[in-house]
Amino acid sequence: MRPLWICKRCANPWPCAQARLALLATYAHDHISLSVYLCGQLYDAAKELHRLNPHEAPSPQALYARFVGWAPSRLPPPP
Ligand SMILES: [Zn+2]
Repeated sequence: MRPLWICKRCANPWPCAQARLALLATYAHDHISLSVYLCGQLYDAAKELHRLNPHEAPSPQALYARFVGWAPSRLPPPP
């Protein structure tokens, strides 16, 4: 739910554990697209959360860990 960036199913910060699993399944064969998508979400969230509450917005480090840091950053080794 934007601009709060919480999950509408469980009310945890998005992407929650379920959302991360769904994203990993959706982008199972395209981790680069997943990274690009998550970076776009990070950009939007940083802007909206800061606008919502400039003094209590998450730090850049926290936002990075939440939106991008959890995702696989390298392609799996070739079979
Ligand atoms: Zn959730």
